[in-house]
Amino acid sequence: EAKSSGGNNVTWFRKDMLLSYNERLSMRTRIQQGMNSQEFSVHYQPIVGTQSNVISGFEALARWPQEDGSFIPPGVFIPIAEQTGQIVELTEQILARVSDDIPKLAQIGQEEKTYVSVNISPLCFTRGIVMDLLKEVHAQAQESNVVLQIEVTESLFLDDKTSAKDTLEALRALGIQVAIDDFGIGYSSLSLLYKLPVDVIKIDRAFISDLTPGTDAFKVADAAISLALNLNKKVVVEGVETEAQLAFCREKQCHAMQGYYFYRPKALAELMNLQHR
Ligand code: C2E
Ligand code: MG
Ligand code: MG
Ligand code: MG
Repeated sequence: EAKSSGGNNVTWFRKDMLLSYNERLSMRTRIQQGMNSQEFSVHYQPIVGTQSNVISGFEALARWPQEDGSFIPPGVFIPIAEQTGQIVELTEQILARVSDDIPKLAQIGQEEKTYVSVNISPLCFTRGIVMDLLKEVHAQAQESNVVLQIEVTESLFLDDKTSAKDTLEALRALGIQVAIDDFGIGYSSLSLLYKLPVDVIKIDRAFISDLTPGTDAFKVADAAISLALNLNKKVVVEGVETEAQLAFCREKQCHAMQGYYFYRPKALAELMNLQHR
């Protein structure tokens, strides 16, 4: 996000979203160095239950702090790590951090059972090691009465459909929750939603950015949420920034909301200070 990611790096990368071969190569090297020296950290964004109005869970979001105090945003380094395959090692590092942080997140969570959600890129599904690690983190989460959730995008179901589904089914059988991230901006058709082995639908913030009743955008958001709820999926709305968006989520009886209106992603230490606000 813009606020926590000032500095020249960001401007440079934004101007240059189409990185040249050499730039990509140097990014790859920098990511590798960053991983070798454990530079990547995790911020957590609290997710608020619509009924309870308190923190029901957290999304873990990768952060890459730089020496000048700025952050290279995940929108820059995650796509490169996905292209180079480095996302597998990066996800292993993220999962290790999350695993360490789970007992404290359990204390900050305000509902009976807290969930912690981690983004998992499609490439990680083809590497057994990430799946094994997920099982380990899940076992540790259970000890803290925390539910581990993974967020996958619709692209996971585009190619290699059956094996991704089988893997998700196996993870769900263990008690790991599966969420579809950024729902609505991908390719899967609404009518196929019921076939996907997922527990949670995260409605992309693009869907709720224009909430003027009567507009087509409004109708689409409204219908997508109704359909997901009718299919007995839990619905989490992303990007809640305003009172009006909050009211919409309440009216639609979504399960949970995530957005700057409530909390920005924060380091664990910062979250612990918020605890008794
Ligand atoms: P995402 O998984 O959809 O995560 C939500 C993004 O929306 C986060 O951006 C979060 O900071 C931002 N956000 C939350 N509430 C609001 C709001 O009210 N307004 C606005 N404008 N933005 C909001 P972030 O942290 O920059 O991450 C961007 C994307 O990078 C993530 O989107 C996810 O796709 C990817 N990503 C981040 N961490 C990881 C990771 O550990 N692994 C993988 N594979 N992808 C990651
Ligand atoms: Mg996500
Ligand atoms: Mg999302
Ligand atoms: Mg998103």
